Amino acid sequence: MSGKYRSLAALLLLPLLLASCIRLPSDGGDETGEGNGGDKKPPSYHENMTYQYQTEVDEDVLMTDLSAAYLVLANKSSPVGEDYTPEDLVALSSAVIASWHQATGLLLDACAAAALYEMLDEMRAAGVTDICVTSAYRSYARQQQLYETYLARELATISEDAYRALGYSYIKTNYLDAGKSKLSYADAARVVLSYSAYPGTSEHQTGLCVDFITDEMGGELTEAFEESAAFAWLSKNAYKFGFILRYPKGKEGVTGYTYEPWHYRFVGREAATDIYCSGLTLEQYLEK
Ligand SMILES: [Zn+2]
Repeated sequence: MSGKYRSLAALLLLPLLLASCIRLPSDGGDETGEGNGGDKKPPSYHENMTYQYQTEVDEDVLMTDLSAAYLVLANKSSPVGEDYTPEDLVALSSAVIASWHQATGLLLDACAAAALYEMLDEMRAAGVTDICVTSAYRSYARQQQLYETYLARELATISEDAYRALGYSYIKTNYLDAGKSKLSYADAARVVLSYSAYPGTSEHQTGLCVDFITDEMGGELTEAFEESAAFAWLSKNAYKFGFILRYPKGKEGVTGYTYEPWHYRFVGREAATDIYCSGLTLEQYLEK
């Protein structure tokens, strides 16, 4: 089948795929209703899913056994700690990493890296080429260094991030009206923690997630990523490769992070499908 007809066939199959995605798990009938805490079984949308790919995808690399290793949780209330180092890190191919990382390289879990390559190949086949990886594995020491750099920055001046994180009226009352031009240590830390992780709590320490960026963004990781063709493609397809949008819009209260359209986490295809189709965050999925 030519590429054109294959995409046409994929288009015709789309409603079917969406239908299988919104179908509730077959163990319905729970009187407490969905998501009320009565059902402890994780959703199992992947069982009814038919995956379609344009490229020759090695499906083995997308699947995990839903084991704890790929579902490790690293967040503010569940830190992995200083000693956590992933076992199987590999250097990412220079073809997929941002130009400013070419000299030092980036590391990622081997399985996540293999799935990432399959995903980027498929994305390229769909005509989306402006995308690369700007962060992957980050050690505890590196996160500590970043945290301290950001803290120094927030202590130096009241930034746009400070207004976003603390609110204009808070800053006006406590700083501007009081003639202060610099944040207190506690407020500066609050601002930093709204966009960066405290050492030991970053998901990047697991080696299972990446931050994407496009050339068009000029090296700055911002919500502009949401406007990219890459984001549009990822929003529909990342789960088929085992990746989830980790910090979705409107879920700040659960994840502890503001919306990050660029941050994708590998959990394996089954869990990613269940999380994508149910609209849960990783925290909520693991709680079930
Ligand atoms: Zn990230």
